[in-house]
Amino acid sequence: MSPEVEHFDVIVVGYGPGAQTLVAQLAKLGRKVCALERYPYLYNLPRAGHVDHEAIRIAQSVGDVQPAVETMWEVRDTYVWQNQHGQVLMEQPAHAPVDAISGWFSDYSMWQPNFERVLDEGSREFGADVRLGWEGVAIEQAEDRVEVVACRNDQEPDSDRLWRSEDYARLSASYLVGADGANSFVRASQAIPREDLGLNEEWLVVDLETIAPLTFDPNIAQICDPARPRLVMPLGKTHRRFEWMVLPGESTMELSRPEEAWRLLEEFGVTPDNHRIARQVIYRFQAKIARSWRRGRVLISGDAAHTMPPYAGQGMLSSVRDSANLAWKLDLVLGGAPEKLLDTYEEERRPHVRRWTELSIEEGAISCELDPRKAAERDARMLAGEDMSHHAPPALDRGAFALGPDGVARRPAGTLGPQGLVRAAAGEGRFDDLFGSPAFTVLTRGGKAADVLDAPGRELLERLGAVVVETVAADAEPGEGEAADLAGVYADYFDAHDAAGVVVRPDFYVFGVVADLGELPALLGELRSALS
Ligand SMILES: Cc1cc2nc3c(=O)[nH]c(=O)nc-3n(C[C@H](O)[C@H](O)[C@H](O)COP(=O)(O)OP(=O)(O)OC[C@H]3O[C@@H](n4cnc5c(N)ncnc54)[C@H](O)[C@@H]3O)c2cc1C
Repeated sequence: MSPEVEHFDVIVVGYGPGAQTLVAQLAKLGRKVCALERYPYLYNLPRAGHVDHEAIRIAQSVGDVQPAVETMWEVRDTYVWQNQHGQVLMEQPAHAPVDAISGWFSDYSMWQPNFERVLDEGSREFGADVRLGWEGVAIEQAEDRVEVVACRNDQEPDSDRLWRSEDYARLSASYLVGADGANSFVRASQAIPREDLGLNEEWLVVDLETIAPLTFDPNIAQICDPARPRLVMPLGKTHRRFEWMVLPGESTMELSRPEEAWRLLEEFGVTPDNHRIARQVIYRFQAKIARSWRRGRVLISGDAAHTMPPYAGQGMLSSVRDSANLAWKLDLVLGGAPEKLLDTYEEERRPHVRRWTELSIEEGAISCELDPRKAAERDARMLAGEDMSHHAPPALDRGAFALGPDGVARRPAGTLGPQGLVRAAAGEGRFDDLFGSPAFTVLTRGGKAADVLDAPGRELLERLGAVVVETVAADAEPGEGEAADLAGVYADYFDAHDAAGVVVRPDFYVFGVVADLGELPALLGELRSALS
């Protein structure tokens, strides 16, 4: 490597929501990170409209997410699937509209730039080197590093068009992550093929800013009309999205004209008097999963590794989850843990993403039926009570968890760990804000971990920089290393799992629980093996 090549722990190609999460978490963990984004600015328009408690907690780990949450709209209505006659075919209270395990409301509708701002500010606050307007154009792997050539892009005034300048830079890193979206250059550079799950649809997507609020009934709906499937949903408190399927033989040029959007919006009472078009675009929905998510020192994540249609609102969330899964593993491997730990990233994430992709395809098939006879048959079956609702993947099964004899995570391992409101020596608030994240966390009830740990357990927790806390009753005065469980979230969790202690990974998934604190050293022994 020539001396002028700057070296990073990790280079991330792309700077969408998935990359921003990874860059911010790695930077917070103290890693030297560089992000390359081909556009000279953040995209600043939404693709995703739905965000859940897990992603909000991940964003909380790198910044103050509360102001963004205040712009979001809590999804308290059901997601309705209705036919062209207004008959309800299916309603999805997909997730119970409640305060969820992560310490936030279960589901929100959002204006994506507000969410991304938290991640981007986190990246910069923790010192990441974010290079906007730099496109990754070539990658070379060596035994001990990976090098990337980036080109600075210029932009045509008043347009999205980019062209490459004469300005090139060569950078090197211990690992490179391609979080560069569905048409990933990183994936292509490693010749990684994708499995095609067989979907290829075009939809017109129109996002509008609300000038004068209207009431929509239903508020969030797939309108399963064979004449033209369409969708209506809010985007946070200030915007609204409508989508229409592009029909066979239709001109996408014609549908891209604002006059066409206003014509299609008439049925909803949406006019230039009450809304302003913020963005009108044709999207192609596909379902493809890369056959491998790692080649040596190069990994891919988010849409670069998997794309799914948006019917279940899980694409961006999957990118964010990939990043939270990968950040702490890269950090440990950079700190000396065996590289094999990186293989658990795909092992854990692929089945979860695949199930969400299949589910999105199944849901799309319901709404996108264009044959009037088949649509009428579908309506008859669903109105007669056939349950066509699909079930989300519950958890992660295999990987760096406390495993049963069958090699599957011993539940609740592989499910999300809790976050509650607590009072501690540092004050009162959400647990992560007071004790810090992302971090390995050991929570106990009815005793302190320190009283039962053996020397190897103590050494492991110290090496991991783990947060170790005893939860105590809401009315107790918490001392050092204690948290008063103000809303009983931890007491309920321990009761539900018959547990006295729980070890939670930095991505908030439970590594394992113990029924008795005396079993904690053995569980930490399993953690040591899983990490090495
Ligand atoms: C209409 C629609 C609705 C959706 N609704 C939802 C929803 O409700 N909920 C949800 O979770 N998801 C939803 N999604 C999916 C979601 O938008 C994507 O899954 C998400 O944007 C993927 O994030 P990412 O960071 O992996 O990739 P992207 O957001 O695609 O970001 C990739 C970035 O990499 C940059 N890049 C590409 N190549 C290079 C290069 N060579 N060098 C440097 N930079 C590069 C790109 O400019 C881009 O900024 C929706 C998608 C669509 C189209």
